[in-house]
Amino acid sequence: MCVSMLSIRNLSVKFKDRSGSIFHGQSYCAVRDISVDIHANETFCLLGESGSGKTTLAWAILGLHRFHNGSIVFNGRVIKKSNDAIHQMLRANSQMVFQTPAASLNPSFSLGRSISEPLRAKGVGKTECNATVRELAIQTGLSPELLKRLPSEVSGGQNQRACIARALSTRPALLILDEPVTALDAIAQHRVMDLLCRIKARFQLTYFLITHDLALAKKIGTHVAVMYLGTIVEKAPAHAFFSNPCHPYAQALLSSALKPGLWQGKRILLQGEIPSLQAPPSGCVFHPRCPKKMAVCHTTPPRESRIRKGHVVFCHRFDTHTGKG
Ligand code: SF4
Repeated sequence: MCVSMLSIRNLSVKFKDRSGSIFHGQSYCAVRDISVDIHANETFCLLGESGSGKTTLAWAILGLHRFHNGSIVFNGRVIKKSNDAIHQMLRANSQMVFQTPAASLNPSFSLGRSISEPLRAKGVGKTECNATVRELAIQTGLSPELLKRLPSEVSGGQNQRACIARALSTRPALLILDEPVTALDAIAQHRVMDLLCRIKARFQLTYFLITHDLALAKKIGTHVAVMYLGTIVEKAPAHAFFSNPCHPYAQALLSSALKPGLWQGKRILLQGEIPSLQAPPSGCVFHPRCPKKMAVCHTTPPRESRIRKGHVVFCHRFDTHTGKG
């Protein structure tokens, strides 16, 4: 049996509304009852619209948001509450790469200093630190001459290489990549993704990739999960998902992608906007926008239906015993 590196079980994250709206002061679930498994060396892709809870889930995994229900199991050890000793071990073995590289680097630090900060924090001496930073720059395709420059003096792609080098400096097992190429131009996107693929093998990394880019998920993902309004609606091995997406929301996402080859049928246009997390719809949270909704969808949340091994969907159109739709 293949053991998960990271196993998320029934995880929920709650926030207090501070928007000044009619919901002000009320608690709401930003992420609800999430269960996923991530295995060593895989590229796990989390898909969904903005506001679906993807980044909140990633932050809860790293302990940057407290989780209120559920558990995280890291290498067989259970994290029962945020920031306990096992959670700190998970954080020490993980790093995050963000969407906007310039914003995640200190503007007054040279790229070299930013890359060296995690090493300095661990007490690594100056000579070893300088040698490691230079080696990481080479590994990430960043010319060592650029290490003295400030983020404002180099391109977005070069800043993202510096962020990746900084993330690698502590030799993490898990990299959480939050839309790592979205803010870059097309050529830099291609080069940074190429770099991420190369260093994954070189450093034996596991990727947790948050992305809107379905073509990218199809190209490099091993497993995918689709989120909608704080819940997971479908999860599957990438090849199974892209050959047979089952949830109406996943089908609509694929049909709206502009890249060819992701969807064979007609374009599915969803009505309305993603609802508010503060006032989620009853029953299936997707029902107000679902082109295939039935009476039961208004009142009853769907349970998990297993389509085949590893491929599950949360939709009343699929039988919970047989997975047939
Ligand atoms: Fe649509 Fe109903 Fe399935 Fe929800 S449960 S996705 S509303 S058919």
